[in-house]
Amino acid sequence: MWIASEAGYTGPFTLGQIERIVLNNFEGLGLIQPLMRALTAANYEVATPIQLQAIPLLLSGYDLMGCAQTGTGKTAAFALPTLQRLASMATQCQEAGKEDARPSAGPDRRGPRPIRCLVLAPTRELAAQIEKSFTTYGKYLNLRVAVVHGGVSQMPQTRALQRGVDILVATPGRLLDLMNQRIADISNVEVLVIDEADQMFDMGFLRDLKRIVSKVPLDRQTLMFSATMPDEIRQLAKQWLFEPKYVEVAKVSSAATAVEQSVFHVSAQSKPKLLVSYLKSSAVTRSLVFTRTKHGADQLVKILLSSGIDAVAIHGNKSQNARTRNLDAFKSERPPILVATDIAARGIDVHGVSHVINYQMPEVPEIYVHRIGRTARAGATGTAVSFCAPDERGSLQDIERLLNSTIEVNESLSELTLSASQQSQIGSNSGGRSQSSGRSGNSRGTSRPRSTSRAGQSGGRGPRQRKSSSGNMVLN
Ligand code: AMP
Repeated sequence: MWIASEAGYTGPFTLGQIERIVLNNFEGLGLIQPLMRALTAANYEVATPIQLQAIPLLLSGYDLMGCAQTGTGKTAAFALPTLQRLASMATQCQEAGKEDARPSAGPDRRGPRPIRCLVLAPTRELAAQIEKSFTTYGKYLNLRVAVVHGGVSQMPQTRALQRGVDILVATPGRLLDLMNQRIADISNVEVLVIDEADQMFDMGFLRDLKRIVSKVPLDRQTLMFSATMPDEIRQLAKQWLFEPKYVEVAKVSSAATAVEQSVFHVSAQSKPKLLVSYLKSSAVTRSLVFTRTKHGADQLVKILLSSGIDAVAIHGNKSQNARTRNLDAFKSERPPILVATDIAARGIDVHGVSHVINYQMPEVPEIYVHRIGRTARAGATGTAVSFCAPDERGSLQDIERLLNSTIEVNESLSELTLSASQQSQIGSNSGGRSQSSGRSGNSRGTSRPRSTSRAGQSGGRGPRQRKSSSGNMVLN
């Protein structure tokens, strides 16, 4: 269940009022009936912290900088007030007896509906997810939503734009294409949302973004969301947002919910065997495996299939159809293992992911938090295991520094993993980088008896996960 957090709260309510809002569900946030009905239909009972904080500010017309990651409910936090704003213009038109009272038309506009809200997202999957959310929340409003992204034919997107849309969700590249062809006109945009700004920056979209933002009228409401707040994002916020309010719901070094984490120390050559054994011996129901490269993802799928484990891959070289097909299979009742690269996995919102496996350690520590955030969504618990080869110890060390805690060494399947003596050898050979192995491997590993359990001896419950002395590894 979602609870309101005091930390970082910048909204206009007192804590007593927040409590009342939490108890009273979404009541009290000032949302109109058609939105409340849609929330009831979607079984949303309690507003998440970012929704509590952002919705009143956005309804009051403020620009907003939100520091929040996927899984916090940020999409509804910006979609609900935006839908309300666009819908209320229609009501005003009707009340004023204007000739054209279409929701999107605005007071004096004629012709096809102009785009009044533009949402920019870094990946196709995230864009599609956002469009779905707008459609769900706006189902009792007469507003049109469309999504444009690369990797698919432009024709249906062109037709939708020519018919007229109120809310356009887009990835930057395809939107620029459509703008250059004069198919997408963003000169009437009133609300601009830039989602996952840090990811846009990392993916090299800054130039495209700048070109797009320069074509949006200055007289607009601007919302920017980012999981992390590096200097570049702060600078962009300064340029593009007018006296913004700032809301933050979870620091990047924390996950929205509880994830049990552990790390296997393993040689690079043993990783395929370890993965197969782990998957076969664990109570894995829906598992996401991360590799660093597209080629690595394809290779791993081959290995898993040849070991009798159903697996599919999702990455940027796959056609959009293949990506959608594989994602649908992953969401199904009998999901294959999904092997993904970080970029393709952004914005994947699948309930019931039981395990996230870092087959290769991420080079950037924040990515680790994004990866493990794919499991344990909406209050559930999840398991994240990492396969750390000797040359990846530095990455592990960086992650532990970011988390400000040590990730427990997983000593199940010990026949496949590096022994304590091998670890300490690596530690003493690898200079400064060895500290991590010392902290997360040796010291803990040798201070306790190592597990002698074998995959087959684990009683069908999967490998034993070592817990910290304080219990499960829980990020908060
Ligand atoms: P987001 O962070 O926007 O990607 O949302 C993560 C997931 O939480 C999505 O599946 C939403 O449908 C769901 N969600 C968002 N807000 C709520 C809420 N207030 N109650 C229940 N589920 C929610």
